[in-house]
Amino acid sequence: MRRILMIATGGTIASTEDGSGLAPTMTGRELARQVPLLDTLCELDFVQPMNIDSTNMRPRDWLEIARTIRGAYDAYDGFVILHGTDTMAYTAAALSYLIQDSEKPIVLTGSQQPMANPFTDAKLNIYHSVLYACDDDSRDVNVVFGGKVICGTRAHKQRTMSFNAFTSMNYPSVAYIRGDRIVRPAGTPLARKTGAAPRFYEDLNERVIVIKLTPELRPSIFDLLRRDYDAVILETFGIGGIPAYDGSYQEAIFDWVDSGRTLVVTTQVPEEGLDLGVYEVGHAYAEKEGILKGDDMSTEALVAKTMWALGQVHDPIEVARLFYAPINHDRVTR
Ligand code: ASP
Repeated sequence: MRRILMIATGGTIASTEDGSGLAPTMTGRELARQVPLLDTLCELDFVQPMNIDSTNMRPRDWLEIARTIRGAYDAYDGFVILHGTDTMAYTAAALSYLIQDSEKPIVLTGSQQPMANPFTDAKLNIYHSVLYACDDDSRDVNVVFGGKVICGTRAHKQRTMSFNAFTSMNYPSVAYIRGDRIVRPAGTPLARKTGAAPRFYEDLNERVIVIKLTPELRPSIFDLLRRDYDAVILETFGIGGIPAYDGSYQEAIFDWVDSGRTLVVTTQVPEEGLDLGVYEVGHAYAEKEGILKGDDMSTEALVAKTMWALGQVHDPIEVARLFYAPINHDRVTR
């Protein structure tokens, strides 16, 4: 029988109400006990590295989850992480970079309603996640939620209340779960398993910030950020517009890049990605050496990948090399 390690970290799924708002109190073992038929799928073990609202999840916690998986990797066939939904997409992306080419599935799930709610989505999400983690054709980091399997670098929390909380950004869902069946879309390559070990990484640089352009945002923001940040992910307008009325943005952005810091350009439009070459208001940035283009990547994946790349290397050319190499389907190859 398969052996799966359940790594419980908190979130709504584990939360109960004590009069001051929902907060996680239940353990992974207590949660699994509420889900019928799990024992027909696998043998489950449990670890609980933390029990927190995912609002409080930080890069150091991603590293701890990755270390937990690394320590248990050989002993298990797959891993299911119970996690709050609010920052699940960031953790899924971070784990995609911290644990690369894992032939064993690493699944993140949670729920919109606590297990204690009679109408909860928690039971089915846990069942589906364990089912997916037990399947021969599953591998790498994915989010399993609301009957969908979404690549760990493509998940985005789109809805605050519906059970269908997550969308796959600019990339198809990897699979769907219908009852007891995993439906993989035609053409999905089946997992080739060779017994190779994944690549684990242990360093992240947390000094990464996302700035969303809004009308009249002052370019002097870049000066203010120098003390605390090494990288800015700039969410531009549309397919890649940056205000050009007086040249001050270009000056601030070029100064930032020329000082050896990292600038990633993306779009604040949720779907279809960036192309700086289309409009005059983006053109100058398309050719500027040192500016990294987010293309079709999600902002969550950009944050995690930038932290990971800057945790490995410093030279801007090396950072770009790591940034542009596709990992866990995070970007389309051009
Ligand atoms: N605030 C909760 C969390 O992210 C929300 C949830 O799990 O749905 O931990």
